[in-house]
Amino acid sequence: MRIINFNAGPAGLPLPALERARDELLDFQGSGMSVMEHSHRGREYEAVHEEAISLLTRLLGIPDTHQVLFLTGGASQQFAQVPMNFLSPGTSADYLMTGVWSEKAFDEAKYYGTPRVAVSTAQPDKRYTRVPRQDELRLDPNAAYVHLTSNNTLFGTQWHTFPDVGGVPLVADMSSDFLWKGIDVSRFGLIYAGAQKNLGPSGVTLVVADKAFIARGRKDIPKIFRYSTHAENNSLYNTPPTLAIYLVRNVLAWVESVGGLARLEEWNREKAALLYGAIDRHADFFRGPVERDSRSVMNVVFQLPSEALDAAFVADAKQQGMVGLKGHRTAGGIRVSMYNAVSVENVRTLVSFMDHFVKTRG
Ligand code: PMP
Repeated sequence: MRIINFNAGPAGLPLPALERARDELLDFQGSGMSVMEHSHRGREYEAVHEEAISLLTRLLGIPDTHQVLFLTGGASQQFAQVPMNFLSPGTSADYLMTGVWSEKAFDEAKYYGTPRVAVSTAQPDKRYTRVPRQDELRLDPNAAYVHLTSNNTLFGTQWHTFPDVGGVPLVADMSSDFLWKGIDVSRFGLIYAGAQKNLGPSGVTLVVADKAFIARGRKDIPKIFRYSTHAENNSLYNTPPTLAIYLVRNVLAWVESVGGLARLEEWNREKAALLYGAIDRHADFFRGPVERDSRSVMNVVFQLPSEALDAAFVADAKQQGMVGLKGHRTAGGIRVSMYNAVSVENVRTLVSFMDHFVKTRG
């Protein structure tokens, strides 16, 4: 019996992707061993690696100018690896500050150059309730890149239109909304995402990068940290996390089988409409701090009238088979993460629970 999992990440994975892994665990395609016991240079694993890349390329329509990489170290390593490759003393990059993950990315850049805050929507209490408007950005045309966090997992805000940054490469941390819908990859110098929300298990980090951009990266840093090393070796410079990439392959195959990113976008918009509908219906009870235009379709945050009610909400929901609803420890309240593996039906179940909760406890 599977529970309804609203965890923020690692998050629930689509059941067919897990069932396929279960069925193949001991004997991968008649080879007498599991995929994780195969050499990463062998025929069997190579086919999985290539399939994961080609599925993603097809689903997103990734142009020839860009390349898919599978790295490790999580999005947190990317916070450092991006400036390590593209900044040097005396050069700067623009950071668009929309939450704690943007702040962490910004802090890592200070080791390599001079990051600039091109905009911040932090409030005096250090919370963020929206993403900025284009006219608020103070961009430096000489910046090495512009960095943004496409979805702010903790504060429940999301960029719905990516900003115009002129000719400067746009670097985006898409850890918590990558693959919620299709995007125009050609607009980005580099996209990165820890896999553990929409894409697969933790342990692999996805990068989609402009080949010309990463070729310009610094060569005076250790090889293992150069994007160009991984690009030249098709992410097989060192042993990649083969099991995690195999699971990503299973998830991507599932995405394709249900109708691709257009279908996922439809489902995600329907889920968001259902949940924000419930919040707006009971606006005095479920208090959503996020400005309407910035509401995330992936992570929805709200607070009940008291901490005791927040706790009761989480406990009652658990009794009804729904977990992962407690807000981040620094933000409090409730957070509902509705990544791709959460179905419209799961959200309907949550919304009926919410309506009932207001009636009985409100
Ligand atoms: N960026 C965002 C937007 C995130 O949500 C997270 C993790 N929740 C991270 C970065 C950090 O990712 P990791 O743990 O993979 O380093």
